[in-house]
Amino acid sequence: DRTLAEADPEVHAQVQHEVRRQDRTLEMIASENVAPLAVRQAQGSVLTNKYAEGYPGRRYYGGCEHVDVIEQLAIDRVCALFGAQYANVQPHSGAQANAAVMAALLEPGDTILGLALAHGGHLTHGMHLNFSGRLYDVAAYHVRAEDQRVDMDEVRRLAHERRPKLIVAGWSAYPRRLDFAAFRAIADEVGAYLMVDMAHFAGLVAAGLHPSPVPHAHVVTSTTHKTLGGPRGGIILAGDRELAKKLNSSVFPGQQGGPLEHVIAAKAVAFKLAGEPEFAQRQERTLTGARLLAERLLAEPGLGVVSGGTDVHLVLVDLREAELDGRQAEERLRRVGITVNRNAVPFDPRPPMVSSGVRIGTAALAARGFDADDFREAADVVALALRPQVTETEIDALAQRVAALAARHPLETETPA
Ligand code: PLP
Repeated sequence: DRTLAEADPEVHAQVQHEVRRQDRTLEMIASENVAPLAVRQAQGSVLTNKYAEGYPGRRYYGGCEHVDVIEQLAIDRVCALFGAQYANVQPHSGAQANAAVMAALLEPGDTILGLALAHGGHLTHGMHLNFSGRLYDVAAYHVRAEDQRVDMDEVRRLAHERRPKLIVAGWSAYPRRLDFAAFRAIADEVGAYLMVDMAHFAGLVAAGLHPSPVPHAHVVTSTTHKTLGGPRGGIILAGDRELAKKLNSSVFPGQQGGPLEHVIAAKAVAFKLAGEPEFAQRQERTLTGARLLAERLLAEPGLGVVSGGTDVHLVLVDLREAELDGRQAEERLRRVGITVNRNAVPFDPRPPMVSSGVRIGTAALAARGFDADDFREAADVVALALRPQVTETEIDALAQRVAALAARHPLETETPA
């Protein structure tokens, strides 16, 4: 068989460029991470050849004896990791996990209540162009202007006014914890299901550094590639098996055909690693990094931090009072070798393509081995790079500090950078 380099030099060259980019820059996109070698090996294996429609022990294809064992391992491990009684590890992505849950529990036209996208919610929580906004009637809750925390009074008021069939608690850009028990109490008051989408903070939950939604929600969804540090993919969990049949048939045959058994194998590996002490230490460093970053940015004149800090792996920089807008800040950080994404902040006066914020996360750097000193150094670089007037000489000096940090923690990869 020919290698990638032999068979397709064009793709191979870009993969090599990407290895180098990941190695030489600091990845601070809050939804990204570095999947360990063992995860990448499972994902890159011959399991990609296998069709396995159905579930372990009940497949529509022959030859599934090994993928059955693997998928069952993934299910058992993720249940043990999160204290769940039910797991479906087949969703191809977080968006498909959410789509499957909604299709299982709702009819088109039913009402869902989720956090507004502009206040930190995800596209699949009711954005008008997404399936969730097109298929369902959407009510959206927000954060309070004064402290930028989710307004539970508004959640309760909207729940009683709009009578949603499903309440979604979860976020893509929100630096605080949600009160899952309060969400469940409101869901019970109006007879709604509660779905918690823990995509961003699942790794923190697994490490015991964030409250678990599993005891409170009817259903929990997640991605496996953010703080959890596994392959790109989705999962559905529940604390009991009441909805098991509905959820399973909603994923297959409802939403998907053949499961990606190579990805499921990689998920199984990631769930095993997430139970090890090394993983918990890494999540602790992730939290320390985010806290240090928030503190450093708050000390910088002109910069704000949404909600005044963070309890999780990300910081939302508030540029509403700054000279730079979100797009300029993203570009400034790119020039010094730090990758982030611009992001709307609550009550953002600028349009979403420009925005008044950047979202900065620490999970990928923690995976590369960053400790508190490294994060202090990275935070200082970010703060200095976001000063209104920065000379070319200063940019060069900051880029060198980034290069030194990256070189201290090389990307572990089978293909040298
Ligand atoms: N849910 C939340 C809260 C997310 O932040 C994301 C991804 O950004 C998703 C779901 C969707 O995951 P995916 O990109 O795998 O479809």
